[in-house]
Amino acid sequence: MARLVMKFGGTSVADIERIRNVAQHVKREVDAGHQVAVVVSAMAGTTNQLVTWARETAPLHDAREYDTIVASGEQVTIALLSIELQRIGISARSWLGWQIPIRTDGAHGAARIQEIDGTELISRLEQGQVAVVAGFQGLGPDNRITTLGRGGSDTSAVAIAAAIGADLCDIYTDVDGVYTTDPRIVAKARKLDKISYEEMLEMASLGAKVLQTRSVELAMVHRVRLQVRSSFDAPDAPWGAYGAGANGPGTLVCDEDEIVEQQVVSGIAYSKDEAKVTLVKVEDKPGVAARVFGPLADNSINVDMIIQNVSDDGKSTDMTFTVPQAELHRAEDVIRKAQKEIGCKEVKTDTNVVKVSIIGIGMRSHAGVAKTMFQTLAEKGINIQAITTSEIKVSVLIGSEYTELAVRALHTAYGLDAE
Ligand code: ASP
Ligand code: MG
Repeated sequence: MARLVMKFGGTSVADIERIRNVAQHVKREVDAGHQVAVVVSAMAGTTNQLVTWARETAPLHDAREYDTIVASGEQVTIALLSIELQRIGISARSWLGWQIPIRTDGAHGAARIQEIDGTELISRLEQGQVAVVAGFQGLGPDNRITTLGRGGSDTSAVAIAAAIGADLCDIYTDVDGVYTTDPRIVAKARKLDKISYEEMLEMASLGAKVLQTRSVELAMVHRVRLQVRSSFDAPDAPWGAYGAGANGPGTLVCDEDEIVEQQVVSGIAYSKDEAKVTLVKVEDKPGVAARVFGPLADNSINVDMIIQNVSDDGKSTDMTFTVPQAELHRAEDVIRKAQKEIGCKEVKTDTNVVKVSIIGIGMRSHAGVAKTMFQTLAEKGINIQAITTSEIKVSVLIGSEYTELAVRALHTAYGLDAE
């Protein structure tokens, strides 16, 4: 007998028929004798609607009230699923974040989970009751409702799994696993059986949308075994039938030691959410970078890639950096205000860029991985505008019109294409 967390996203609970299907997945595990905690999102589109209403009422609003509004979507789905489970003869009850409680910090709209008391949940599970928990929400230090940021119910699920010591946290979604790259643009993308926490973390933060980045971080810290799988498949074999989920139907996110055949590059991610800012003719002298990036940091703007060219005349140089598109206007504003002090001639921006990244823990022990990337892009006549690397990834900034060409060519170059 195992203890499981089953998380279902918005598309999996989009209407009553799908909620009935979710209940069948839960029933399969309960019938096999497992203890089950379910975490659900709001019905697809609901959270967006709630956010729109909040903004429509007042663009600048009390963040505590925003959270009270947007957390309401999950309240509906936990109760609907509980009713359906009861209807088909399964003991179940709904849990809002505050009823457990899921304690978070006070950063409304982007709160971080600090503590979950799993005692009550565990005792109910042991009595054979299914716990249906609202994802995305928690309780702040002042006892106000908080939310964890968009996509946050993945994080709720992992945190619950850690708190109740679950054997596996299954993330049911509209795709059947994690792919080597986005199957919508590369037909030969392959589903991965396993991926390490480190790689999944890079994939998520570099643009793969399958899991919220924070949830992977949390899974890595608490060593929660995480499986991404589809809720649209008909409920088939229960946990255990696959051997501890290791060769389950989806993709297992786990410790790298569990992965026997490690590829050099495991996946390719891309993000169109990038904007480039270039400061033309910045004075080339000590302290300039601090004058540029100091004010950006003070305004909590996330700078990603940075490049500074050498100057021909020893007096001035161009400096380029990237920020998320949503932060471009603020970044531009901050830079223009500081332009005199920075001493640059002109500020240029470009949103027509994409960041393409290759990811793989095999890179740690292989030379020439970046070279293959640069060569492949050169052969396709794609110009690289900026580069960043870490131990297990290389990212390049290129014109967004080359996204598909670049991702496809790299997918082939690293031997990832499905036969
Ligand atoms: N309902 C929330 C959202 O749409 C949380 C989630 O789905 O993970 O962002
Ligand atoms: Mg999601």
